[in-house]
Amino acid sequence: MARPIVIAHRGASGYLPEHTLEAKALAYAMGADFLEQDCVLTADDVPIVLHDIFLDTVTNVAAMFADRKREDGRYYAIDFTLDEIKLLHVTERIDHETGEVVFPGRFPAGKSRFEVPTLTEEIELVQGLNRSTGKSVGIYPEIKQPAFHREQGKDISRKVLEVLTQYGFRSREDACFVQCFDAAETRRLRQDLDCQLRLVQLIYETEWAETPSEFNAARTGEAMRKIAEYADGLGPLLTLVVSGLDSNGQPVRTPLVEAAHQQGLVVHPWTFRADGMPEWCDDFDALLRMFYVDAEVDGLFSDFPDRAARVRDCLG
Ligand code: CA
Repeated sequence: MARPIVIAHRGASGYLPEHTLEAKALAYAMGADFLEQDCVLTADDVPIVLHDIFLDTVTNVAAMFADRKREDGRYYAIDFTLDEIKLLHVTERIDHETGEVVFPGRFPAGKSRFEVPTLTEEIELVQGLNRSTGKSVGIYPEIKQPAFHREQGKDISRKVLEVLTQYGFRSREDACFVQCFDAAETRRLRQDLDCQLRLVQLIYETEWAETPSEFNAARTGEAMRKIAEYADGLGPLLTLVVSGLDSNGQPVRTPLVEAAHQQGLVVHPWTFRADGMPEWCDDFDALLRMFYVDAEVDGLFSDFPDRAARVRDCLG
């Protein structure tokens, strides 16, 4: 079996504000194999790297542009030009409902100076580092909320693919996976937009069953067959792969990885966080080992790519 890959989830986001170039450079130095980019569009159609379609959870947009919120009180990236977004300061993630920082032990909110990068800037950072270090770290862009973008009159997939093509990401041999939660859009990427990059279908438990334990092999097999028609891999919530521990403390595997592998799909679960563990495990390194060894995943998304790489490299 190939060595599992470490994907830096929003960069080394356990240590620096997510999706900043600084968080990506740190993840690169920590030994990540791939760096993730969540992509949304600006008002002037530029793909930027931002997890939400909103700016208010990770920037000071409310202070800078108080009158630009929509009726729901949110500030949408798509309502701002790139020039405006570049004026904003990025900070550690804030819970929109409570106003509290989501991960209190992480980088202090509001400190130092970070900005929202464009997808282009981020690719140039990765390609530049690949050149100066001689390594070949890849990118892992996600098409965020294509249906929302379409309602707003924009085609995010086309815009992201334009940038990827321009920077040489064209075929399955290139160091790039493209991911999306929207199954119709992932299929469209392959079948209508002729994207030949490796595609990963993201899945979240509520689309599949009330609880991961409700999985059954037949259903999983049928689902995997459909995904394999257009995608190369699967990005499941981690509890869809291991649902808990049995009475002997051994991981309880769902049928997902085996069913995916039978269809030739790689499996890259998310999100591995030392400060956001599943309730049934309190040892981060043990959790990582469980997924690499017992669950036989092909890679995983972590906010702590240094630890994910260290545990992986000790597997022998
Ligand atoms: Ca993502």
